[in-house]
Amino acid sequence: MKKLTNTMDIRVSNAISILQMLRHQIPKTKSQIASDTGLSFSSASNIATILVDKGLLQIDENSLSTGGRKAACLSFYGNFAYSIVIDLHDLRTGYLGLVNMNSEIIKTISFEIKSNDTLDDILLKISKANDNLMRDVSTPIIGVCCAIAAVFLENSNIVLSCSNPVFEGLNIVSILQDLFHNDFVVVENDANLSILAQGNNDTTSTSKISIFLTQGVGMGIMIHNQLYKGKDGIAGELGHMKVRGDSRKCKCGHYGCLRLFVPLESIAYDLNEIELLENGLSNLEYAKQLAIRYNDNEVEVVQRIELAKQKLGEALAVLLDIFNPDEFIICGNMVELFPIFDNGVKDICRNNSKLAKPFDSKISFDTRTPSQLMQIGGSERLFTSWLQNGFESYISN
Ligand SMILES: [Zn+2]
Repeated sequence: MKKLTNTMDIRVSNAISILQMLRHQIPKTKSQIASDTGLSFSSASNIATILVDKGLLQIDENSLSTGGRKAACLSFYGNFAYSIVIDLHDLRTGYLGLVNMNSEIIKTISFEIKSNDTLDDILLKISKANDNLMRDVSTPIIGVCCAIAAVFLENSNIVLSCSNPVFEGLNIVSILQDLFHNDFVVVENDANLSILAQGNNDTTSTSKISIFLTQGVGMGIMIHNQLYKGKDGIAGELGHMKVRGDSRKCKCGHYGCLRLFVPLESIAYDLNEIELLENGLSNLEYAKQLAIRYNDNEVEVVQRIELAKQKLGEALAVLLDIFNPDEFIICGNMVELFPIFDNGVKDICRNNSKLAKPFDSKISFDTRTPSQLMQIGGSERLFTSWLQNGFESYISN
């Protein structure tokens, strides 16, 4: 955290504490805000008044009366501004979402991405989707977050190793700043957004890991409520982790990578059904069909899904021993298969982990669609960044 140098910095820092607290909690009186943040009543009251004037807090008209006298409660007002989230994590469909500051999705527009689309084609589709998205919207937009299935270098804003090669080597931030006429643009790896979408309740310190199953296998790491991204911002590349018992070669040039076993596309490939996905069947629909065929005991499907469960369980066991998180969250584009995964993966993990018996970690399955996760996680990412970099000028003006 930066060093506080003057009265304004202290006031901004205190305002951020109040906002973060109220965003995740029930409405509070000014006295409660003062006592919960450790501020004096006059400081808390002054800052709360500014935040009400700026529209970030609202006075709750239904405040409970205390001791016969009404004590006004204040709550966070999430509709004071929206963020735009561009979701480019999927190779075939893009999404543009309008999300409020409580991370509630207001509206989503999707667009098709074709395998031969150039960068200009995709930018034009984003621009058209934005025209539709913003029709009849007058709420201020604080910024734009772009979800991308890539290694993204934050220091240079350059995209590396992207699932869609048209973005590789580009400064995607400056491209989007120009496209949206908005300087506040944040780009984030899709798996990192999948863990941010889990919410961040500041009242308890938790460490969680999300496994984001799409074309590959991404991992979002949250340690004591903070997103962990590693020295270069590239941590969480789980798809090329080596698992036992197979000799197939991955596109990375090595053998036995996890991404050859667990993702939906790997299953489609092994069942000789990849053309279904290539010809337009959605991931969610294909996963639904597989779940039906599994439950109908179609032998090949049962065997292949059991293999996916086995390898996911083995990977979780390694991660459990390394990270000892409070919780693993499995999410992604195969939600219809999660009830089948749920029945077995936990036991496979526990049987393969050295530490699971005494310590264990919760394993849960998030059944929201990947597009919902990207919009909610993207809004969280943008809001945090805005508090650090855009909030001061917002309340100073
Ligand atoms: Zn690999």
